Amino acid sequence: MTLELINLFYVASAALFIFGLKQLSSPATAVRGNMLSSFAMLIAIVATLTGKNILPWEWIIISIAIGAIIGGLAAQKVAMTSMPEMVALFNGSGGIASLLVAWAALYNVDNSIFTNVTVVLSILIGGVTFTGSIIAWGKLSEVMPSGAWVFGVQRIVNGAILIGIIAVAVIFCMDPATDSQYLYALIALALIFGVMVVAPVGGADMPVVISLLNSYSGLAACAAGFAINNNILIVAGSMVGAAGIILTNIMCKAMNRSLANVLFSGFGAVKQATKVEGEVKPITADDAYLILEAAQSVTFVPGYGMAVAQAQHVVRELGELLEKNGAEVSYAIHPVAGRMPGHMNVLLAEANVPYDQLVEMEDINPRIEGIDVAVVIGANDVVNPAARNDENSPIYGMPIINVDHARTVFVLKRSMASGFSGVDNPLFFGDNTRMLFGDAKDSIATVVAEFKG
Ligand code: NDP
Repeated sequence: MTLELINLFYVASAALFIFGLKQLSSPATAVRGNMLSSFAMLIAIVATLTGKNILPWEWIIISIAIGAIIGGLAAQKVAMTSMPEMVALFNGSGGIASLLVAWAALYNVDNSIFTNVTVVLSILIGGVTFTGSIIAWGKLSEVMPSGAWVFGVQRIVNGAILIGIIAVAVIFCMDPATDSQYLYALIALALIFGVMVVAPVGGADMPVVISLLNSYSGLAACAAGFAINNNILIVAGSMVGAAGIILTNIMCKAMNRSLANVLFSGFGAVKQATKVEGEVKPITADDAYLILEAAQSVTFVPGYGMAVAQAQHVVRELGELLEKNGAEVSYAIHPVAGRMPGHMNVLLAEANVPYDQLVEMEDINPRIEGIDVAVVIGANDVVNPAARNDENSPIYGMPIINVDHARTVFVLKRSMASGFSGVDNPLFFGDNTRMLFGDAKDSIATVVAEFKG
């Protein structure tokens, strides 16, 4: 295949990537967007492998079959609640792949100084993305503590590593070799730096890090594309990098924090929220039914617990019953609810909740005082009034859905346990709050049965 023909295929896949990305912006077209982008990647890979005589057709078909089986099984087996961890591992895989591709590029004999710089960048960003994502995976899966990990001289140590990276990178760029000790030092420092950058971020700040790592994985791929002079890798990498940066910006806004503040403050570890005390008022599902039956307006506020309970289908059923009963129903979505960006939108779309009933935080808060019942389904941090009122709270300043301003609040959860950030929630002790303890799916199913029966 001629270079022109390969580039023609690359242009086709780049165009499909753009259409696919556009379609991902709405739940209605997201599945099609995903298929389109996967197809674009297939075209790009096959054009590269055949065009440059890297692999014969038989091997490509066998590899596609193996990859499809692994991907298909993983998609079937991984629980919805583990998707965020899987995304973290995907980011990490992208990072290590870029590091290895850049390393391999060193074996080209006629490398220019520009290529060497891109090799160094790819190794650096790829290495940081790899170990950073492993730490993010550990925190999300709670294999390791999800809080911030800070120690006294952390900034000095990080500063020293950064200076070391710059020094080694410059020396290596001037005299690159595949077995240079500076190359090994650069790889080791990048891997250590990834751990050091993500470890001090914890609790409610994790969404920002996840989207930042996503962006890094794209930037690493883009740098690797320059290193091996591959146009489609440059295009795809820069798209992922740009999309990740936009998402990071959205997440920072959702947390009301600057990126520098999230990355360098080690927030969450130092502050101690004011101890919350008071009387909790539990309610049974039967009594909750009586209040909901009389409600004119109901807002559901889903959180991570809805994903754990897989309650989205019964929630939609309850929403329909309430509407039939004459109530106005909406679903208030906090941008960092759950464990990955868009987590709640995905769950509610899966349960066929009408998109026009989904309301963003900025839109529900001004009118929440007029809502009869706010039903909090497994959400905790994103409805914690301490973020608004308690300056000592680690989550102080994060915008929340002000469910405590609704006329009545039902909180559906299993215990008094805190959410991801580990902070107590004064909402549970509010005068207008009723705690409906138990698995969210079971509680809602009981209310649904009351409505039907
Ligand atoms: P939280 O993690 O604050 O709270 C979830 C609550 O769900 C828990 O308090 C738990 O209480 C309850 N729960 C768990 N299982 C069930 C069940 N089966 N039935 C009923 N309740 C259940 O969730 P939020 O969505 O409010 O907040 C998200 C948090 O995660 C934020 O701190 C955010 O910053 C962070 N985060 C978000 C990411 C994102 O991109 N969206 C990424 C990484 C972190 P109990 O155990 O008592 O049932």
